[in-house]
Amino acid sequence: MRYSLVAEAYEKIENTTKRLEMTDYLVDLLKKTPKELIDKVVYLTQGKLYPDFLGIEIGIAERLAVKSVALATGYREDEIQSDLEKTGDLGETAEKFLAKKTQISLFRKPLTVETVYKTLDKMAKASGSGAVDLKIRLLTGLLMDATPKEAKYILRTVTGKLRLGIADMTVLDALAIAYGGGKEAREVLERAYNISSDLGKVAKIVAEQGIDGIKKFKVSVGEPIRPMLAERLSSPNEILEKLGGKCIAEYKYDGERIQAHKRGDEVTLFSRRLERITDQYPDAADIVRENILAKEAIIEAECVAVDPDTGEMRPFQELMHRRRKYDIKKSIEKYPVSLFVFDVLYVDGEDLTLKPYPHRHEVLRKIVKEDNRISIAKYIITDDPEELERFFEEAIENGCEGLVCKSLNNDSVYQAGARGWLWIKYKRDYKSEMSDTVDLVVVAAFHGRGKRAGTYGALLLAAYNDERDVFDTVCKCGSGFTDEDLQKIPKLMEPYIIPHRHPRVNANIDADVWFEPKVVIEVIGAEITLSPIHTCALGSIRKNSGLAIRFPRFTGRYRLDKSAEDATTVKEILQMYKSQLKRVQS
Ligand code: AMP
Repeated sequence: MRYSLVAEAYEKIENTTKRLEMTDYLVDLLKKTPKELIDKVVYLTQGKLYPDFLGIEIGIAERLAVKSVALATGYREDEIQSDLEKTGDLGETAEKFLAKKTQISLFRKPLTVETVYKTLDKMAKASGSGAVDLKIRLLTGLLMDATPKEAKYILRTVTGKLRLGIADMTVLDALAIAYGGGKEAREVLERAYNISSDLGKVAKIVAEQGIDGIKKFKVSVGEPIRPMLAERLSSPNEILEKLGGKCIAEYKYDGERIQAHKRGDEVTLFSRRLERITDQYPDAADIVRENILAKEAIIEAECVAVDPDTGEMRPFQELMHRRRKYDIKKSIEKYPVSLFVFDVLYVDGEDLTLKPYPHRHEVLRKIVKEDNRISIAKYIITDDPEELERFFEEAIENGCEGLVCKSLNNDSVYQAGARGWLWIKYKRDYKSEMSDTVDLVVVAAFHGRGKRAGTYGALLLAAYNDERDVFDTVCKCGSGFTDEDLQKIPKLMEPYIIPHRHPRVNANIDADVWFEPKVVIEVIGAEITLSPIHTCALGSIRKNSGLAIRFPRFTGRYRLDKSAEDATTVKEILQMYKSQLKRVQS
């Protein structure tokens, strides 16, 4: 398959902000793709070579890529570099210089997707001494055979800046239309994706075996399952009513969510964002290896920092020491962790994701050998709102955030990748009126003035609209940032700068700098009000009004463990607004 077909599709996709058009172009591309290549084309369109959880990045530093462009075009590096400073996009610069190149290589052969993928793969896997030279050589080779347009997209891909704005859900829509017999197939495809987190694999199976192949799709150890998420409510009565009068209430521990995959002695830990974090928590991996009594299992647990002296739970922030690559040994001693297990999704050949929670909980009780490092999340089963409230107070006393109340009904399956009403969180901060924290996505920034000249004065923040898979703005936040934050944020955001509003961001405000919706920060608000500017829950309460968080303040917590899609949802904010009103009125 010619790579030019891919590049042409990218160009069309890039030039539209309409999701439906984007999907059409993608369908077109997927239909033109030979079945044996479909996984590779799917990864490539998202700027990847493999599913995220394998953690293999193409990565070449921009200054090295500049060298390749120079070598391939015969221009000097400083000429390329100075144009790059103007365009800010090496893809565009390379396209220009390749078009100017007078001497066409005699041996130029049309680039195929196979060649591009294979070469990028070699670059990704190059390691050790000589890796840098090898990467430059491989990239130069590709550029020698590329047309200017192809070069543009190859460079964006290798420098991690191919930002077509194609969300996972758009790929699933396109696959349903191209190979699943129509849009209706989307649901089955989505489940396959939710239990494998691997779009390429889903694509390959639906292309080769059709929707029947997808229906046979099973959970498997080593492939992370996309996490089930909780809705929230603010009183025991509401919670019990929503869950059919009775529920299992569990402590909501304040740590890092971990999905542990065990196969014999081999244990892999995935974060909430499905990154491999086994290296950060070798002690947690040992606990799973020794205390989970099954040959093969997938369990979920909250990993919590504990005081080595008292055994008491410590704040979430202490886990951040584990993010450092070096000195893990010291962190393990200084900041030990305990595991609180709250679900089991697979045991010894049996997929439990479609089994009701009481059954999964029973299995959990059988396979977890409890000791002081690991236990099942503390729970009660109750139909009494007062008992629920007391248990909640107790949880807070013991250093937890509150409770997660879970359905015991027959339909209480594990809803992979979904936020639903089978799990409801009940948090203290939510009760203290109008002082709840929310996790919001940074979508744009405004230049600072005066003391803040040279950094950002404020950030435009958005909530996640899970119905439309977009991000709706909810406030402009300029307070709560320390001097250190102000220095750090531009650096943190730099890789995500884009020249215009991201197609998945819904904003009626003009900002100075736009970002890809990637980074999540925690913000505390004073109240939620109707807003003529913000797009969050637009029209839900009143025509032409959205909702805004008033007096937002950054709490100091960067939620690097959350992806943009894990941010507080528009629905949650709407819910918060409504119950806040109720309290004000009553
Ligand atoms: P939130 O991050 O506020 O949306 O709350 C959901 C998170 O609570 C989950 O992703 C888990 O990391 C965490 N959690 C702590 N304890 C539990 C529990 N018993 N059941 C489910 N989730 C829990």
